[in-house]
Parts: sequence; structure tokens; C-alpha cells
Amino acid sequence: MENNLMYERQNGFAGLDNQTKGEIYSFCEEYKQALTKAKTEREFCDLSVELLDKAGFVSLDSKDSLKPGDRVYAVNRGKGVTAFVIGKEPIENGLNIVGAHIDSPRLDLKPNPLYEEGKMAYLKTHYYGGIRKYQWLSIPLSLHGVIIKKDGTKVQVNIGEGEDDIVFCIADLLPHLAQNQAGKKLSEAFEGEKLNVIAGNVPADVDKDKKKYAVMEILNQKYGIVEADFVCAELELVPAFGAKDTGFDRSMIAGYGHDDRVCAYTALKAIIDTKTPEKTAVCMLVDKEEIGSLGNTGMQSRFFENILAKLCDKLNNNYNELLVRGCLSNSSCLSADVGAAFDSNFADVYERGNASYINEGLLITKYTGARGKSSASDANAEFVAKICRIFDESDVKWQCAELGRIDVGGGGTIACYLANLDIEVIDVGVTLLGMHSPYEIAGKFDIYMAYKGYKAFMNS
Ligand code: MN
Ligand code: MN
Repeated sequence: MENNLMYERQNGFAGLDNQTKGEIYSFCEEYKQALTKAKTEREFCDLSVELLDKAGFVSLDSKDSLKPGDRVYAVNRGKGVTAFVIGKEPIENGLNIVGAHIDSPRLDLKPNPLYEEGKMAYLKTHYYGGIRKYQWLSIPLSLHGVIIKKDGTKVQVNIGEGEDDIVFCIADLLPHLAQNQAGKKLSEAFEGEKLNVIAGNVPADVDKDKKKYAVMEILNQKYGIVEADFVCAELELVPAFGAKDTGFDRSMIAGYGHDDRVCAYTALKAIIDTKTPEKTAVCMLVDKEEIGSLGNTGMQSRFFENILAKLCDKLNNNYNELLVRGCLSNSSCLSADVGAAFDSNFADVYERGNASYINEGLLITKYTGARGKSSASDANAEFVAKICRIFDESDVKWQCAELGRIDVGGGGTIACYLANLDIEVIDVGVTLLGMHSPYEIAGKFDIYMAYKGYKAFMNS
């Protein structure tokens, strides 16, 4: 009989030596800082470039030719970055790609956000991604983003993160007057049009009722902008709090935007720690996953193929379209995205035997989708076996699970768009509690296993 007859799963910290535990905890200290510092796709893109530069990566455009061991990256409109470490094998043998997204659910400002109502100035928001609206009331919010002025100058906005900064807030209804609302269905009790952020209360000197005008005066003084400039802006409201340890044992991290910066950060660290792999290693960080991977910064864009064509050209003087196509066909990808951890408070939406658990290791999701695997990206068993073998050989502890019970919902990732490019792909990421909430929880063991797993894959 085989020794490992049964597939036993257990908490990764059980029986773990102190040295490894120390490595995990110190790795997670840096991750917490990154999560607190970079709360939007633009900020995470900037942070990634900073870390890549420090690690000896250079812009792809700055190189005329490439050779094994070279480290290059390409930025997509400030909202995504793809980094490569050129491998020893010819590019037509394919790439080992780890792809994650760096956008997270949030509240965007509308193009005409500022208005006055009920003797108060407000900013109108339009939520981005799958949020539970009630979670965004009565919490401190910070405003991040850019405003492009008429003269083309870019104003960087970051309000609400500093010690003395103001924060923004959407006031919730008091329980004393919530009788009608309390009787409504949850899906009807909170409306997108009511997620309006308080902007100011002091009236302007010119007219005692003009609170909106007074807010605009402050913004004009501080940023030199006029009301029409909001049209040419991307301003995002995100939770103003930072990432913190949770659990008396400090075994987990609570923070905004684990989905999917927990996979993005670990993938980035993995490529930074990759020297000269056999196959060319790729860390691809994309935008717009939360709204369907659309747009030229999302995974459905031709950006990656265009960059790959450029890369192939710099590697090979006999460049042709077939080289790029052949490279894609021989490539493998880990779609690095988060899963839903079993939560005993909501046990009825999970199937325990096929659920993932916090700190039981890197999560492999063979297929995503909803109901009868609708819209699923379903990895081929041969490829699943290959990935399990890579992880086992590198001592990466993993678990395999589905999102939840069959008929209660579902979801997808960027995996299907990579599969469309004829790439072998499987979802591999970190499982979370409270996914898409302003304060998601991830296990430190799982975070470290993601880093180890992505690195092992890039070097396979
Ligand atoms: Mn995600
Ligand atoms: Mn998501």
C-alpha cells in the first residue's frame, strides 16, 4: 500500500519549524506595507515599477536586443505592468506566466460628482466591481487618483492616508428611523445612487447658500482645478485604513484589496527572485478584472500579444508572426487570483469537502464559473498534474477547492482570456475571508506559499 493513501489536509502552521515561521512572518510584514501603500491599480503599478527597477529590471523599450538572464518590463498606461526574465530556452518553447490583477472593488467618482442637497455638499460615486453596498457606509474612505488639467498636466490626488488628512464618509441611516428600510430585501435596501460622499458644509462668502462653490474654491486653491476638470479625472474612493495583523497568533492579515494584490505582490516578488530560468518567466499584472477584463488595460486587450511580439523581435532576428503564435501555444500560466475560504458563519454557501481553508496552503481551483460550470475556465487534468508535481517538488503546500456550493453563485478570473490565447492555464491563488469587502482577511501561511509556488512555477 502507498504511504500517502489518503489526501490529508491540515493547517500549515501545525508542526512548522520556527525558522520557516519567521520567514513567513517577515515576508508578510513587507506585504502589509505594500497593501497599505498601494490601494489602486495606478499606485500598485507605480510600486511594482519601483520594486522592479530596484531589482535590476529595465524598460523593454530601452533594450535593442535580449539574451538569457535579461530582466525587462513594459507598463500599460500606468495601470498594469508585465515583467519578463529571459530564459535559457528559445522563446518558441513558451513562457511560464503568472498573471494577477491589481484593480479592486471600490467607489469611483462620477464625471460630474459635486452637488449640493439638504444644506450639504456631496460627491456622487459610481461603484466599481462587485461590492455589497452596505459595507461602504460609515467607514473612513480616502480619495486616490489623477486629474488631467486642460494644459495636460497631471494632478496626483491622495487624500485620507496621512495622519492629519481628512477622510471621506458616507453617512448611514440611524436605526431609530430605519424601520422601513429594515423591512426591505437587502438587494433593495441600498442603492448605488445613494452612495454619496460628504464633501463640505461651510458656505461660500459670495453667497451664503453656495456650499458646492465653497468646496470648489478649496479644490481650486489646493490643486488648481475647476469643476469641469472632474470630467478628465479618475478618482477612486477606497478604505482609508491600513492592513493589520489579525488573530491573537497574528496568523492572518486584514486589509483592503487582498483581491488581488495578494497574488500580484507574491507574483512580483517571485519574478524579482528569479535569476535565469529555463523558460522565460513572466509576471503579468493587469487592470479591470473586477469589471470583466475589458478595455485596453484589461486582460482581453491585445497589449500582451503586442508586447510579446516586441520581445520576440528583440530576441530573434528571424522574427515572424509564427514565432509569437508558437510561443503562446507552448506557454503555461497560473491565473493568480483569490478564492473564498470556508466561513462557519456562512457555512450553508460552502461544500465543506470541496472548500478551501485559511492557512491550509496555496489554493488550486481547477475550474471556476457558475451553476453547470457556465463560463468556467477548466484546466486540463494533465496540466493540473504538472502543477501539483511542481509544487510538491518544491515543498509548496497546496489545497484544491471550488468557490462555493454549486447553485449559490460563482465567479471567474482572467484565466479564460489566457486560455483563448491557446495557453495552458489554471487558477492558483490565496483563499480569503470576506472577499470584496473593505476589509478582507488572508492567511500568512497561504501568502508565503503563493510566493513559493509562483517562484517554483517560474523556474520550472
Ligand atoms: Mn480577483
Ligand atoms: Mn474580485
